[in-house]
Amino acid sequence: MTLHEDADASAIDERIAAELNEFAAEEAKRLGLAREQWVEPVNTTFNRSQRDSTTMLVSGLTLAHDTFACASFESLGYKVERMDAPDNEALQFGKEFGNRAQCNPTYYTVGNLVKHLVHLRDKDGMKTEDIIEKFLFVTAGACGPCRFGTYVTEYRKALRDAGFDGFRVMLFQQQGGLKQATGEELGLEVNQDFILGLVKAMLAGDVLNLMGYRLRPYELQTGATDAAIAKCHEIMVDTLSNGRSIVGGLWKCRKELGKVAVDRSQPKPLVSVIGEFWAMTTEGEGNYQLQRFLVSEGAEVDIQPIVNWLLFMVWENTFDTELRIDLKEDDTDSKKGLKTGTAGATKKLWTLKFADKAIRTVFQTFAHAIGLYGYHLPDMNEIAELAHPHFDNNNRGGEAHMEVGKLIHFVEDKVNHMTLSVKPFGCMPSSGVSDGVQSIITAKWPEAIFLPIETTGDGQVNAHSRIQMMLFKARQKAKSDYERALDQVGLDEEAFKTKLSKSRWGRQPFWRPEHQEAGIATNLVYALG
Ligand code: SF4
Repeated sequence: MTLHEDADASAIDERIAAELNEFAAEEAKRLGLAREQWVEPVNTTFNRSQRDSTTMLVSGLTLAHDTFACASFESLGYKVERMDAPDNEALQFGKEFGNRAQCNPTYYTVGNLVKHLVHLRDKDGMKTEDIIEKFLFVTAGACGPCRFGTYVTEYRKALRDAGFDGFRVMLFQQQGGLKQATGEELGLEVNQDFILGLVKAMLAGDVLNLMGYRLRPYELQTGATDAAIAKCHEIMVDTLSNGRSIVGGLWKCRKELGKVAVDRSQPKPLVSVIGEFWAMTTEGEGNYQLQRFLVSEGAEVDIQPIVNWLLFMVWENTFDTELRIDLKEDDTDSKKGLKTGTAGATKKLWTLKFADKAIRTVFQTFAHAIGLYGYHLPDMNEIAELAHPHFDNNNRGGEAHMEVGKLIHFVEDKVNHMTLSVKPFGCMPSSGVSDGVQSIITAKWPEAIFLPIETTGDGQVNAHSRIQMMLFKARQKAKSDYERALDQVGLDEEAFKTKLSKSRWGRQPFWRPEHQEAGIATNLVYALG
């Protein structure tokens, strides 16, 4: 083909393309489809000069985590306010202004923000323009694959419909790494200091919460643990907001917690609460105050700390990177200038390995400082391998394979007496997928005492009564394990209690005997016997 012929051919192509576009536009118009792509108007303007006059609202996890996150942000120069845990009034706001068919955490968390702003306007008499100008909300985001990917859009939609159009919802990506949004003039800089401060606040919140759940069921004076925890909150807020040593702060907390007198000779059922991330973490009406309810029913609660989620994110990245190595040796991401083939992947794997080790080391340092001994973080590879024959490790969303892997691990390693899996109504990954698989697990491991609970906001009585029924079985199991241990070491209950009361280690609330079976009382029997 000559140059002349070449130019003719391309002119013909262009003419055909133009004719086709014209035809497509006419057809779209005729069929009523000639609409422009809708683009959500998003206001995320927050400059450094606005920092002093803008309050960042924070909420979403436990009281300790939210409080410590606020203190950490304060140390970086932000004005922060912690919102209360979402309650049923928040749920009503969420349902009123949110889209249909969302999952429960969306309604609770979105509704909680709307409720807070409505109260500022209607109870405190603030003008809407002032609220929009002086407040913003910070939350974590992700790309899904479940509804979590649409939370930020839900926040904006509900706020618009509730009369707060233009209210700023700032997002940082939970998988975005250490550098996400930096720049001289940005009001919210999600940089290394921000992320590391947040991670440390999360780990400090974890160890304090875990200590609370270890002590509360065995306290001799009702309310002593809560009083000590309240003092610890004050200590840690002072520590974090002034940028002091977190280990030093936790050491001071240890002294407060050490004052709680306990009797750990009581064989109480140990109940692990797993399930969907928000439903198992929140401490409010969003999960019918499950943790408190279990303690009031005489159980010890094994909560899932936030650190597990951090370790899962590291595992997830490692797993995907290892798969990617096999795909393309010379794979590069030219836009970001990253080498994602073998060389880039190897570097990434080392970074992830380091991140895993660093998280575990910092957690255990914090744990030992506050007196949380013998707490084992899950081996994420083991959880993945246990789950994989029943729940493919490539499936993501919600807790992915973790619910299934954890249940098998709990039964095989005698971690607890009962597993309670809590999930919000309408949760696709947890209720729709994991619970379906759990029926196979309970058939294969019939000794598992497992109860899945769906929370809807209005089914508290039903949920509590189902838990009470299952707790009966767990209580029996705890008692029989304890009696078998006494038999094996040749002690009767009275002799064991006398031995325990005379033991310097056994009396103090921090000491953990070696794990043999579920339950502190049973393990103390083995240790002292
Ligand atoms: S895991 Fe379930 S409850 Fe949580 S955001 Fe996804 S769909 Fe909603």
